[in-house]
Amino acid sequence: MDFFDVVIVGSGPAGMGAAFEIIKGKPNLRILMIDQEPFSTGGMRNDCKMNFTYPIGFPEEYWEKQEADRALNQVIDYLKPTILPKANIEIYSKRAERLGCSLVDISQAHLGTDGGLVLIKRLLAELNALGVTLSLGEKMLSVDDTRRFIVTDKRDIGYETLLIAPGRKGFHFLQMMLQSLGVPFVDNIVDIGLRIETRFEHYPIVGDYYDPKFYFPEKVRTFCTNSGNAHVVKERYVTSRGDVWYSVNGHAYSADTHESNGLVNFAILKTVRFTAPLASGQAFAENLGLQAALMGGNKPLMQRVGDFRLGSRSKENSFNSDLFDFPPTLKDCCPGDISLAMPAKILRAIWKAMKNLDTIVPGVLHPSTIMYYPEIKLYANKPVYLDRNFRVTDRVFLAGDGAGTSRGITAAWASGIRAARGMVERIG
Ligand SMILES: Cc1cc2nc3c(=O)[nH]c(=O)nc-3n(C[C@H](O)[C@H](O)[C@H](O)COP(=O)(O)OP(=O)(O)OC[C@H]3O[C@@H](n4cnc5c(N)ncnc54)[C@H](O)[C@@H]3O)c2cc1C
Repeated sequence: MDFFDVVIVGSGPAGMGAAFEIIKGKPNLRILMIDQEPFSTGGMRNDCKMNFTYPIGFPEEYWEKQEADRALNQVIDYLKPTILPKANIEIYSKRAERLGCSLVDISQAHLGTDGGLVLIKRLLAELNALGVTLSLGEKMLSVDDTRRFIVTDKRDIGYETLLIAPGRKGFHFLQMMLQSLGVPFVDNIVDIGLRIETRFEHYPIVGDYYDPKFYFPEKVRTFCTNSGNAHVVKERYVTSRGDVWYSVNGHAYSADTHESNGLVNFAILKTVRFTAPLASGQAFAENLGLQAALMGGNKPLMQRVGDFRLGSRSKENSFNSDLFDFPPTLKDCCPGDISLAMPAKILRAIWKAMKNLDTIVPGVLHPSTIMYYPEIKLYANKPVYLDRNFRVTDRVFLAGDGAGTSRGITAAWASGIRAARGMVERIG
């Protein structure tokens, strides 16, 4: 059996952050990083906008400002971001405050989907040069922590310490691993909402602030704004029962390489926290996804704001660019009635937030604006950690979005750093 001092599962920012930190502390360890894909599949590969201000991306139950700021300084050393300029923030902030909302001023960088790939390649090459063994296209299947080895689709691999950082897409996989390791966990928090697509003229704030983070009452916020050459996409998810559903998402290409298509998209999400007797917020979110897929003939739903306001479903002819200003960038989507698919409490809070947003940035509720549903964020596994380094058994650590220790690229990297410190200590 192959053996490594450190095995890292997942080459996303959490896995990479851990690998670089371990090498810094113990350059002679034998480190293996595997990923089931040729390149990490998360945000570094999709849009790659990076936030460098606490608490964006940092779940506050695990992160205090001082610790996050310290880690962010390290993240900056590796990611070398070019921070985007911002303008006119006070105007929008004042308008928001008058309505009981807020605009958070964040340091941001944006590489775009193409720029993200360049970054991933650079970081992997650096890890390789530092002696890390990379095995891309290798999938972890199970773990035997008593005998300290993992089983992949290619071989068995022994470890001294193991980091599992499989991201949001690895949410179910991580739950299976937690069950097999006997680690208790809850997943009671989910983010559910819409993706909005509109013309740049109807949301011009993005010219001043690339990804403006607005917070509204009832735990609603804007999230992941894309502009320039911006597109709405759908992501395929499979439930534990094998049913398929879709969540929408958005990304943009780098401004250096792609001409603007004049469109903007962003998510508007409500955080929902479940209490007893519901066992799994995730299962609830999946059922919403399945409901939307049922209504949309196995596609997400889309509706023009003009139709929504009239209480009518959108139809095929609501989406021609002649009458309605611009065609949707997500073609494989079904015109429909979002209010039939979305729980009333969530829809009401989000619509209220959108009306506030339209007062702060007038125009966003133009009749042509498209609302896509569902956008659901699956990152709420909350395992019981044994220490501050996200250790779950004697030798197994977790990090990143799948493990609930982060909600974004920079925080995922930071959580990898924290796990790495624990791993190095464990090896001694
Ligand atoms: C479409 C999209 C766009 C996003 N855009 C942004 C953005 O612009 N800015 C931002 O800050 N955040 C963004 N995010 C969130 C961001 O991706 C995450 O916060 C971040 O990537 C989490 O890092 P991670 O290392 O935990 O997981 P990931 O980056 O998801 O990496 C996990 C890796 O583990 C691998 N893996 C999973 N299971 C296994 C297994 N069984 N065996 C082997 N390998 C496995 C996956 O292939 C994946 O490459 C986006 C997410 C998505 C899905």
